[in-house]
Amino acid sequence: MKIFLSILFAFLVIQLHAQDTTRLSLIFAGDIMGHDSQIAAAYDPIKKRYDYSNCFRFVKPYLAGADLAIGNLELTFAGRPYKGYPQFSSPDALGVTLKDIGFDVLVTSNNHCVDRGRKGLERTIAVLDSLSIPHTGTFVDTVSRMNDYPLMVRKNGFVIAVLNYTYGTNGLPVTRPNIVNRLDTAIMRKDLKKACELKPDAIIVFTHWGAEYQSLPSKGQKDLADFCFRHGAKIVIGAHPHVIQPIEWRKQKDQLVAYSLGNFISGQRKRYTDGGSMVYLELEKVAYAADSSATSIDSAGYALEWVYRTADAKKHYYIIPVEKGEKDSVQFIADVSSRDAFKIFARDSRQLFSKYNVGVGEIRLDNIRQFAPSDSVACNTHILKRTQEKIAILTSDDVRLFLSTFNNACGNHVEFKEWSNELLFTVLHQHTLDFLSVLQDTDAMLNTVLILQELSSPISDKISIDDLLSRIDPLDASLKYKNVIRESLLKAREQKKN
Ligand SMILES: [Zn+2]
Repeated sequence: MKIFLSILFAFLVIQLHAQDTTRLSLIFAGDIMGHDSQIAAAYDPIKKRYDYSNCFRFVKPYLAGADLAIGNLELTFAGRPYKGYPQFSSPDALGVTLKDIGFDVLVTSNNHCVDRGRKGLERTIAVLDSLSIPHTGTFVDTVSRMNDYPLMVRKNGFVIAVLNYTYGTNGLPVTRPNIVNRLDTAIMRKDLKKACELKPDAIIVFTHWGAEYQSLPSKGQKDLADFCFRHGAKIVIGAHPHVIQPIEWRKQKDQLVAYSLGNFISGQRKRYTDGGSMVYLELEKVAYAADSSATSIDSAGYALEWVYRTADAKKHYYIIPVEKGEKDSVQFIADVSSRDAFKIFARDSRQLFSKYNVGVGEIRLDNIRQFAPSDSVACNTHILKRTQEKIAILTSDDVRLFLSTFNNACGNHVEFKEWSNELLFTVLHQHTLDFLSVLQDTDAMLNTVLILQELSSPISDKISIDDLLSRIDPLDASLKYKNVIRESLLKAREQKKN
C-alpha cells in the first residue's frame, strides 16, 4: 500500500509539474516573394498546373515542427495574369503549399499588398481565408479591422497577439474601404494598448521597414523597435530589406528583435539577397494560479536558408537549409557556381550575425540533442507534441530510447487506452514516419526498423517498405542505395516472421 501511495504521489507530482509549465515553439520566416522566374518554375507543363511543393520540401520539417510558423507574404493572390516584379500576383497553388508546409499565420501588410488594387487585396484575403490560414495586416474594411485586429492566435494554451505594419505601398493608393496598416506610431500605440488589454501571453509585432539591401538596421528601425517594446511587445520581427539584418535578444528585458529576416524565397540571385534566416524561439509559461501566469522567451536561435535555382533548363527553385546543404553528399546543388554562391551566402551571413547578433546563435537542428529521457515519463498528448517537435533534432542514438519509451507508454498510459486503436495507429504511424525521415543515414534507418520489429511495436508490421523509402531525405546519399535498403528491410522482416 505504501509503495502504491508513493507511486501515486510521484505520478501526481509529475502531473502537477507538467501543468505548471507549458511551452510554445515559434519559427519566423522572411519574405515570401513571387518573381516571374518562380512562377515559370512552378508551372508543370505535363499536369498543366502550378505546383510549389518541391520548392519548399527541405524547409517543411522546420516549419511544420514548430507550434507556430509565421511568414511575410509579400505578394498578392489576385488571380490571372500571374506576374512578378513590380506588381506581384502569384498562383493560388502557392498558398496551398504554404499551408501544407506548416505556415500557421501569414502577415500581409507590406509595400506590395496593393500591387493589384482593391481586387488583389481582397482576393488575397479570400484565398487565405479559404485555406484557413490566419492572417493580419490588411483588411477589407474598418469593421473587419475592428473585429479581427490584433490577430489573437491560440495554441497550446497560449494566446499570442500578432500585429503588422508597413512603411508604405510603393506609392500605390489603397482603395476605400480597404485598410493597410501603416507604421504610424499614433495608431500603433492604440493598437498595442488594445492588445495589452486583451491580456495575451505575448505580443509580436511584424514591421515592414528599413532600407533595401542594407545589412544593418537604421536608426528609424531601432527607434521603432524600442517604441513597440515600450508599449508592450515582446517580439519584433522585421522584413523588407531583402537581406538579413542582426537579431538581438535582450534577455534582461525579455525582448527579441530580428531587424530583417531577408528573403525566405525569391527570384533575387545577387549576393546577400539569395537567402534568409529563420528565427526559432521557445516561449515558456509558468502558471502560478488559475488566472496568473508569466511568459518569457526561454530560448532563441537562427537557422539559415539559401535559395537554389537549378542551372538546367527547368530552372527550378529549392529552399536549402544551410545545415543540410553543407552535408550535400550527393551534390543536389549540381553546379559549381551555385555551390560557390551557397558557401558565400553562408559565410556572409555567419560573419554578420557573429559580429552583431546579441544572444542569438545558430541552431543546427540535427545536431542539437535536447531530448531528455524525463520528457517521456508521462507520455500524454502534450509530451507527444513535444516529442514531435524534438524529432527534427534527435540523432540516431536516441532512437532506441525514444521508441522503447514510446512503445511502453502507449501501452500503459490512460490517455492512449481511451483512444480508439485506429486513431492511435494513425498518430503513431505518422510520428514514426516523421521520425524516420530525419535520420541521417542508411544505417540509422535500418537500425530503427530493426528496433521497431524487435519491440514488436503495433506499427512495425504496418509500415510498408516503400513508405519508408519515400521518406529518405533526397539530400542524403542513401538515395543512391534504395535497392540495397529495400533488400535489407525485406530480409529483416522475413527473418522476424520465421
Ligand atoms: Zn518589401
